[in-house]
Parts: sequence; structure tokens; C-alpha cells
Amino acid sequence: MKKNKITFWGVRGSFATPDLNKMNFGGDTSCVSLETDNQIMILDMGTGARNLGRYIISNPNSPKILNIFLSHYHWDHMLGFLSFAPLFSNEYEINIYGKKDRLQLKDIINHMLDPIFWPASYDHFNAKLNFHTIDDKIILSENLVVESQIHNHPNDAFSYNILFDNKKVTYITDCEYISGEINKKLVDFTKNTDLLIHDSHFTKEDLPDHKGWGHSSWNQAIEMAQISNAKQLALYHYNPDYDDKKINLIEKHAQKIFKQTIAPKQGLVIYL
Ligand SMILES: [Zn+2]
Ligand SMILES: [Zn+2]
Repeated sequence: MKKNKITFWGVRGSFATPDLNKMNFGGDTSCVSLETDNQIMILDMGTGARNLGRYIISNPNSPKILNIFLSHYHWDHMLGFLSFAPLFSNEYEINIYGKKDRLQLKDIINHMLDPIFWPASYDHFNAKLNFHTIDDKIILSENLVVESQIHNHPNDAFSYNILFDNKKVTYITDCEYISGEINKKLVDFTKNTDLLIHDSHFTKEDLPDHKGWGHSSWNQAIEMAQISNAKQLALYHYNPDYDDKKINLIEKHAQKIFKQTIAPKQGLVIYL
């Protein structure tokens, strides 16, 4: 396996969009994986996690310990869990990490597995599952540390830094800046990152009509990348109403302001 491989399995926000005019960027919701030497880190379990699960079980050399980091528990970050193939295999140990909430992490997932909503329950899963509520930092190995920090979103969400091999990947999704101001604490958290994956749900024209929805504009993503001195910016969590034409345009405009911007399409792979 090549080192430090990042794959965007789902880049859409809020709702999956299997629409013909959105196929180029893709319709699956939030899910990104990072493969290092012998670990797979998974950021969010949106519907993109379905294809990630198939990829993992079809690759005999894939690590057998999987680490899932959830930004928060809204459906568009969780639904892929329901059809995540490694759950049904006893070859895997799956660590699920997330923020503290009103319900325990295990109960939050159990809620999704209620027979009213879904036919499979914990009893159907053969993988070993471990649930971890985290505060600010977790050391997975000497060379792999994950930091987390709460940011503003309805019912809150975690930003993550994954630190490995002297590299840093920062994941900030479902983040609304209060009164539009870039958050200083989040700038410090993001400082000098090699890759910033950032909520770009709205245009700056659409943002003012959606106060309290919990999202950023692509312009704010750029502002954060510039102020925090990020080496590369990946736009993320595209508005389900924006078609391919619109996101292409956003990418072009964004690159004029911050050259090292990409608008990832579903399936994009980056090696760091
Ligand atoms: Zn979301
Ligand atoms: Zn959300």
C-alpha cells in the first residue's frame, strides 16, 4: 500500500444527490479516508462510507484495525455506517471516536439501528466495535496523533487534526463562523496544515440567508486557509442544490484567490 493516501469518498453536504447534473462531483455525503503505513483513519460516515467499506474488504492487505472519527452525529455524517461492509466481518476491529453528547456514542448508533429505522442491529455485526468519547487529543501510535476541538454548529461539531509522519491534515466541516468572523481558536488549531479540508457549503451571496444553518462559504474556507497558512485547501460539503457547473465555477474563482485550492470530486485520491 502506498503511504499517506487520502481518498474523498463523499463530498456532498446535507443530502445525497444522485442527480444527473451533479454526477461529476458526485452525490455521496461526507466521508474521507487517510491510509498510512498500517492504519486507516476515516473522517465521518456519510453515504460515501459504503464504497469505502467495499474497498477495504476487497483489499486483502488493508489494515484490520479501522479508526472512525465522527465530526458530529447528523445523518449526512452517519448514514454510511448502516452499509459499511467491514462491520459484517469478524476480521476487523473498529474504533469509533466522537464528541460527548446527550446520549452515549454506542446509544447514538443504536438509535439508528432501531428496527423502526433499519433491519440490522448490533447483533448482526461480526466486527469488534469499540466506542470512545474524546475530548481534545488521542495518541494512536508514536507517529499518529489525532487532535479534536469543538466548533460552532447546531449541537456542536468537532474539527480534527491528524498528525502523522511530520504531516498535518485538518478537517473542518459543518462549521459556521459566528457573526462571519474567522474563529481565532480554530486558526491556531489549523496553523501550517499541509491539507485543510473545509466546509464550503455556501457562496458568500447565499450565506446571509442561512444564518444558524451551521455552515461556511467557500470564501470563508479560503480566508481560513490564508490566515492559518495552509499549504493546500480542499473545498468540501457541497450544497445539495449546487450542480456541477456551479461547483466548477466556484473552484475557478477560488483558485484565483488561493491558487492551492481544489474542489475534490467523489473518488479523488491525494498522496501527501
Ligand atoms: Zn453535514
Ligand atoms: Zn451537521
